[in-house]
Amino acid sequence: MDFELSAEEQAIQTRARELAAQAAEEAARLERQGAFPAPVFSAWAAAGMCGLALPREYGGQGSGYVSYCLAQMELAQVSPSAALLVHLNHSLVGMALARFGAPAHKERFLPPLARGEALGFFALTEPGAGSDPGGMATVARRQGELYFLTGTKNFVTAGDRARFGIVFALTAPEKGAKGISALLVEPGATPGLTISPPEERISLRGAPSVTLRFQETPVPAENLLGAPEEGLKIALTVLDGARVGAAAQAVGLGRAALRHALNHARSRRQFGQPLAQFQAIQFKLADMATELEAAALLTLKAAWLRDQGRPFGAAAAMAKRLATDAAMQATVEAVQILGGYGLLTDHPVARLFEDAKAGQIYEGTNEIMRLIIARELLKS
Ligand SMILES: Cc1cc2nc3c(=O)[nH]c(=O)nc-3n(C[C@H](O)[C@H](O)[C@H](O)COP(=O)(O)OP(=O)(O)OC[C@H]3O[C@@H](n4cnc5c(N)ncnc54)[C@H](O)[C@@H]3O)c2cc1C
Repeated sequence: MDFELSAEEQAIQTRARELAAQAAEEAARLERQGAFPAPVFSAWAAAGMCGLALPREYGGQGSGYVSYCLAQMELAQVSPSAALLVHLNHSLVGMALARFGAPAHKERFLPPLARGEALGFFALTEPGAGSDPGGMATVARRQGELYFLTGTKNFVTAGDRARFGIVFALTAPEKGAKGISALLVEPGATPGLTISPPEERISLRGAPSVTLRFQETPVPAENLLGAPEEGLKIALTVLDGARVGAAAQAVGLGRAALRHALNHARSRRQFGQPLAQFQAIQFKLADMATELEAAALLTLKAAWLRDQGRPFGAAAAMAKRLATDAAMQATVEAVQILGGYGLLTDHPVARLFEDAKAGQIYEGTNEIMRLIIARELLKS
C-alpha cells in the first residue's frame, strides 16, 4: 500500500492550495454576503482547474479523480459554494456528457464546461420525487424531431445562470422508472420554460437553486443524451461518481471548521489560560481531526478505485456518508468551541455550520447512502 501522491497529484494539490489562499479574502466576503462566487470560480477556471478529470480532447485536464478530489478539498475550505458549482459542472453535467454524450454533444457542450466558461445544471429532483427519482412526473412527449417537455424540476442548482443542462423526463411514462430519458436543454433558446427566483435556503447561498417549470417546451430530438429510456441509469451512474466529489467538498469544509476552532482555542483565554489548555476542548479538536482524516482517506480510496476502473459505488456511498457526517460534526463542535461567537451570522463558522447540513442531503441523503452500502453488503 502506498499513501504517497503521484507527482502530478501533488502538483495539483499545491496549485489548488495556492489558488485557494489567493482567493480566500474575496471568497470570505462573498460567502458572508451569500453572493455568487464568480471571481473565485473564474480564478479556478483560468488556472485550468474546472476540468481536472474531464477528457483532454474536450478541454479537460485528463487527470484522475484523486487529483480532482484533492483540489476540491482545498477549494471547499475557502468557498463551499464555489466548490459546489465546480462540482456540478465537472462531476454531474461534465461526467454525464463524457460518459454518455454522442461525439456531437461532447464537441458542443463539454469544452465550455471543462474550461469553466459556462455553467451546466442537472435537473433530476421534482416536488414529488426527491430520494426516489423513479417517481418523477415530468414527461417528454416525442413528436417528429422534437420532444415536448412538461413538468417541474426544483432545487436546480445554477438553473438560472447555466447555459445548458440535463433534464430527466419520462419519454415512456407507461414504463415508470424504466421510461426515463435524459435531454440536453438550453434555457436561452427554449420557449415554454419559466425559471423561478432563487429558492431561499440557509445553506450554500452562493450556489443558488431555482425551480424550472416546463410547459410543452420543445427540445430537439438530437439533444437526447444516451439511448432512449436510459435516463435513470445515466442519473444513477453519474451520481455514484459525483458522490466521491461531494465527500471531498465535505472534507474541505470540515477542515475549515477545524482550522477556525484551533485558531480560536489558541487565542481565546478564559480562567486565565487559552481554551486550548482545557482537555475538554482538546478532546473535541482531536475527535474532529480524527474523523476528518478518516473521511479524507476513504474519499481518496473511492477516487482511486474510480481512477483504476474498479467498482467504487459502495466506497463512494461510504465516503459521502462519512465525510458529510464528519463535516457536520466538525462544524457543530467548532461552534461549541467558539461559544456565542460561533453563532454570530458574520462568523465563518456559523456559515460552515449551515453549509455542512446540505452535504448530508444532496446527491442522495445519507439514509440513501446507507441503503446503497447495505445493498452491497447483502449481495456478498
Ligand atoms: C443545496 C442543495 C442543492 C441541490 N441541487 C440539486 C440539483 O442541482 N439538482 C437536483 O436534481 N437536485 C438538487 N438538490 C435536491 C437533492 O438532491 C434532494 O433534496 C435530495 O435528493 C433529497 O430529496 P428530498 O429533499 O425530496 O427529500 P425526500 O426524498 O423527501 O427525503 C426526506 C427524508 O426521508 C428520508 N428517506 C427518503 N426515502 C427513504 C428511504 N427509502 N429510506 C430511509 N429514509 C428515506 C431521506 O433520507 C430524508 O431524510 C439539491 C439539494 C440541496 C439541499
